[in-house]
Amino acid sequence: MTKRFCALCGKTDIPLIENLCESCYLKKNPPFSVKHEFEVRICPHCYSYKLSKKWVQTNSFNPKEFLEIVIEQNLQRFIKHSPEFEIIIQPQIAEEVELTGKIDVPILITAKKNDTAISEMVKVTVKLESSPCGICTKKKQGAYEAIVQFRGLRGRISEEERQQIYQIIDKALESERYKDEYIPEIKEKKEGFDLYVSSTGLAKSIATSAKEQMGANIHESFKLSGMKDGKKKGTTSVSVRLPSFTPGEIIQLTDKTLIFEKIEKGNLIGKNPKTGEKQIIQYKDFWESEIQSWKPETKQYLIISKTKDTIQLMDLKTYEIAEIKREQTHTNLKEGEIIQAIKIDEEITILIPET
Ligand SMILES: [Zn+2]
Ligand SMILES: [Zn+2]
Repeated sequence: MTKRFCALCGKTDIPLIENLCESCYLKKNPPFSVKHEFEVRICPHCYSYKLSKKWVQTNSFNPKEFLEIVIEQNLQRFIKHSPEFEIIIQPQIAEEVELTGKIDVPILITAKKNDTAISEMVKVTVKLESSPCGICTKKKQGAYEAIVQFRGLRGRISEEERQQIYQIIDKALESERYKDEYIPEIKEKKEGFDLYVSSTGLAKSIATSAKEQMGANIHESFKLSGMKDGKKKGTTSVSVRLPSFTPGEIIQLTDKTLIFEKIEKGNLIGKNPKTGEKQIIQYKDFWESEIQSWKPETKQYLIISKTKDTIQLMDLKTYEIAEIKREQTHTNLKEGEIIQAIKIDEEITILIPET
């Protein structure tokens, strides 16, 4: 009986493929092929790269890491392999590599299938061409699609509101969706400020957050400047009017009065001054009606007497005596007690502490 052996290494008692043991066979017929050279564009400003149509962000400013990312993310572009093999690559890039011209990158490629593995060191040449990416070009030109105009209902925007708006902007820019967007300019105005925004989507998102978190009224308009590729080109303006209330302020609508506390989902939350109960003014009701608001002066009164229908109060500063109608919520007030009250329409309203 003839012994079967590998024609290359002489190993016996093993399955043979075309007269070779598996490992010799793989050496002669590697399960992968390598494209040894490819061109990559690199943006010198943000280290994005472009291999075909799209700029891809690497989020790395380390040259070695940059090359590793480019190679790993584009494996299938320069290594073709039979699907039953798993390919592992280990680029051997020098720490001090410079990202210019042609870079020879040795790569250790390992192809694995079950218990069989074959490794080969290959050299791949990366031809780098420096050119700014679309985003960096746009940023440099300060291009924008939209303007968000922040204005206060009462003619100005407080520092607190401004910080709140900046937080909204930062949060939007940090999100995955708008990470490529930018704010080329903020223009100060007497009554507020204008925010120039690279995309309409981001502008709308910022305005919507201002509506939800700050109760702002938003209004959008579009100014056409021409057509490009069958699409309307122009600038979107979003006006954002902030209600600018501070806690404790009295807000009066035609049929509602509220001691303002906060804004939730665009609605005004506060207390009914008479009953002390929680009161909500819907966003829509608020912006559609006439609004009066002011900071009330809180005064101290002494309860002199209570009857079934009235309460007698003495202003502790002026000693003036006044009588008010007794409300359901006044039940727990006692004669001799000192209470806080405000005046709404010349009427004394006792501030009922929260229950
Ligand atoms: Zn062999
Ligand atoms: Zn760039």
